[in-house]
Amino acid sequence: PTEDYENLRRRIYSNTKELWYYVNHELTKVLQEDNKAEKIQTILDQIGERKRSLLSDQQELPKLDGYQDWRIAEAANVSDLVQRRLRHLQNPPDCKDARKLICNLNKGCGFGCQLHHIVYCLIFAYATERTLILNSKGWRYNNKGWDYVFQPISDSCTSAYDDKVVQWPVTYDAKVVSLPFIDSISQKPKFLPLAIPKDLAHRITRFNGDPSSWWIGQMLKYVLKPRQAMQKAINDTIAKMNFKAPIVGVHIRRTDKVGTEAAFHHIHEYMAHVKDYYDQLELTRPVAVRRVYLATDDANVLEDARSKYPGYTFLGDASIAKTAATHRRYTPLSLTGLLVDLHMLAMCDYLVCTFSSQVGRVAYEMMQTNRVDASDSFFSLDDIYYFGGQNAHDRIAVMHNEGNYQDIAFQVGDLIGIAGNHWNGYGRGTNKRTNLNGLIPWYKTADHLVLYPFPDYKQVPM
Ligand code: GDP
Repeated sequence: PTEDYENLRRRIYSNTKELWYYVNHELTKVLQEDNKAEKIQTILDQIGERKRSLLSDQQELPKLDGYQDWRIAEAANVSDLVQRRLRHLQNPPDCKDARKLICNLNKGCGFGCQLHHIVYCLIFAYATERTLILNSKGWRYNNKGWDYVFQPISDSCTSAYDDKVVQWPVTYDAKVVSLPFIDSISQKPKFLPLAIPKDLAHRITRFNGDPSSWWIGQMLKYVLKPRQAMQKAINDTIAKMNFKAPIVGVHIRRTDKVGTEAAFHHIHEYMAHVKDYYDQLELTRPVAVRRVYLATDDANVLEDARSKYPGYTFLGDASIAKTAATHRRYTPLSLTGLLVDLHMLAMCDYLVCTFSSQVGRVAYEMMQTNRVDASDSFFSLDDIYYFGGQNAHDRIAVMHNEGNYQDIAFQVGDLIGIAGNHWNGYGRGTNKRTNLNGLIPWYKTADHLVLYPFPDYKQVPM
């Protein structure tokens, strides 16, 4: 398929949803003010049904256009190429001689945050053609280090020997460079997320609707390989669950996150999207059991969900949730539970979560590596997708907007720095040409992908 066809197809899909967000939001407001409640409720139900039908039809398109086998093969090929390039980078012929990048796994944060730290380091290594050395002794999830839980990120090169270590940013081509955390890096290089490699961009965009998270997912795929003992623990827990499609993954992040970094979201808010998913699925096939895999760090949520939603079957492990609570979090046991949760969420058909949580974002990134394109298979109750510490994320205007008392004016081609989507048809952003900040009708803009000329690893066969 051509890029234009793919972009247009996704655009129609996304804008149908945008129309619904708008109508749903506006009519819900009227509903609260007006006494014509019954009538408006009927309209809402009707439009909801029509929206599901439209989206359902559109999801059939790629199955019918004759390119689906091609997409599956291409996604596998590009992923394989990236993995082989990383293996090449991480296993230089002469380790002693190789240029290296050192990262310390001593960030005082949760596992999702630490995974993203490694992703940042690996992208940095790939961009600068340096072998990544991970220092992880005294790691908070396992004192002995990363390599005791996961396979090492290199078979042959895991130390910088006694070479002099220079802190980034470097003024000369030092042999061994050590990286600070992404939050404290001065002058962020342009290759950091959400940028993707230019030499692969035109391949990725033809099978995936969100190449940035696909690229990040590839980094996770390379590093997240549990050792035998960990893999067995994960497999044993999973074997006890009756995991079957169709299934929707729900991640509910509570405890220390609520009120500090994210707002509280009631179980109803998540379940409204689960219901919508199944109502849509039932348009094309019977659904005998509405399964939900529920992952959370709040031990009470699972029981609460089961009692409030008897029409749904909840899979999940209350003991995992208990070890995930703030005060029990940084232990090998809680890490096993989290890996189970992440693995399961990433295998679900659809994901409902909050992207303010790194756990929610990692689950989505992993989902992106599990299938050809997961970009239409999630709903985040709060943030749009992002990478902590990323460079500016812009959208580009594809239609003219006059602007009025609430939304800002823009012309086709204007770049708009994005703060977020309000899921009511509008987002907020700043027009970089005019500096005006305000609401933007989301459907008049498209994601602006940043392509960076990463090294193209010619030594690794295509
Ligand atoms: P964030 O704080 O949600 O952005 O993500 P982090 O990964 O940085 O920190 C949250 C930590 O809480 C995780 O690493 C887990 O230890 C724990 N946690 C949060 N949600 C879950 C969950 O759904 N399941 C499990 N097992 N642990 C969780």
